[in-house]
Amino acid sequence: MSFITHFFPARYYLDKASELAFRDYIVQRTRHTMQRLVLVCVILLLVFNLTDILLGDTWYSLNNLTRAGIVILLLLFLPYSSRLTTDHYLQGWLLVSAVVILLLNVTFYAAAQYFGKLGEGGPMVVAIALTAIPIFNVQQKILLWLLLFVSVAFLKYCTATDTGWSLFYLSITISLCFSWQRQLDILLRSQFKAVRLETQKAETDQLTGLLNRRSFEQRLQQKLQTLAPEQQLSLGLLDIDFFKRYNDHYGHLDGDLVLVNISRLLSQDTALLVVRFGGEEFILVEQHPAGEATVLLSLPEQLCQLAYPHESSPFGVVTASIGIVTLSYPAKHCSSGELMQLADKLLYQAKEQGRNKAVQQDICKQQQDAVHNNL
Ligand code: GH3
Ligand code: MG
Ligand code: MG
Repeated sequence: MSFITHFFPARYYLDKASELAFRDYIVQRTRHTMQRLVLVCVILLLVFNLTDILLGDTWYSLNNLTRAGIVILLLLFLPYSSRLTTDHYLQGWLLVSAVVILLLNVTFYAAAQYFGKLGEGGPMVVAIALTAIPIFNVQQKILLWLLLFVSVAFLKYCTATDTGWSLFYLSITISLCFSWQRQLDILLRSQFKAVRLETQKAETDQLTGLLNRRSFEQRLQQKLQTLAPEQQLSLGLLDIDFFKRYNDHYGHLDGDLVLVNISRLLSQDTALLVVRFGGEEFILVEQHPAGEATVLLSLPEQLCQLAYPHESSPFGVVTASIGIVTLSYPAKHCSSGELMQLADKLLYQAKEQGRNKAVQQDICKQQQDAVHNNL
């Protein structure tokens, strides 16, 4: 079984979730290539029609009409496919490719009738053209190559068509294309892995594994854009209290350990966007039902309950303060810079009021508009 799987990189090279992510990646990256490929096919088919007509064939011959049918199918599906999700896009193009192969087989039949014999080059070119489709993996291409092979075999054995050496050359072409495609499947997946690793590295804080400041802006914008009318968005800036004293007393390595453990606590709630803003400061973003208290308010208490000893703090344990800004729908025009400034002001107030506290401010509609206007 593993011997067979070895031929299909899509089955073993990535885990299931990564393979799905890879499909999205490859479809997104090759949409333009697909468009160009389809347009090249359309132009080639039209050139074939034109030359046939110039050589004396009628425009309404089976050959020309079938090619025109393929052109229409491709031109109709191309704009439609751009609106499809990844899965439907792949299934759609697989189906269209299968129909095109069957229609091309009709043109092979018509050409063989016209010239008395099927040229070996036609099926070979189709097999190579199938290899050039960037979105399919080797399994999907085997299906298409098999369909091509069977339909040419059908012409040979079930009609009175002279196919010459077509099946022989087609077998060799398919074998070579299979080998290229298998290598390509591996190369594309290894490139995807490398790109993903680089992106993860660039977006992640090394010590805590949380997202870093660099990746924050885009994700906050996403949260602001996707806020629903019945929701609010709370952004909190959390800062550990007396952390310099902690380092001075326990050493930087123990300080790092505290940062890691606090990061774990903050990441437990998967609905929260958690970012290490820098040093011992974290940004937290939550979308929650309007009028309902944000979980960010309870963070100082939760942290206190972890009870990490901190002898140089008046609380005796590690604590944190947080400044929280809460926005209502619509929030998509709010600037992250303004929100951060406000959260920072509220954090300062929490520190001023004795630390180990949350200070929250609901921005009302007018203030929210003012934040928009300051953009
Ligand atoms: P406050 O209650 O006002 O926030 O006091 P504080 O001492 O926490 O504030 P301050 O900003 O003066 O100190 C932050 C300290 O955080 C300074 C630095 O030693 C420490 N720190 C920043 N980044 C790291 C880190 O990656 N690891 C460790 N161990 N300490 C860090
Ligand atoms: Mg600080
Ligand atoms: Mg601090």
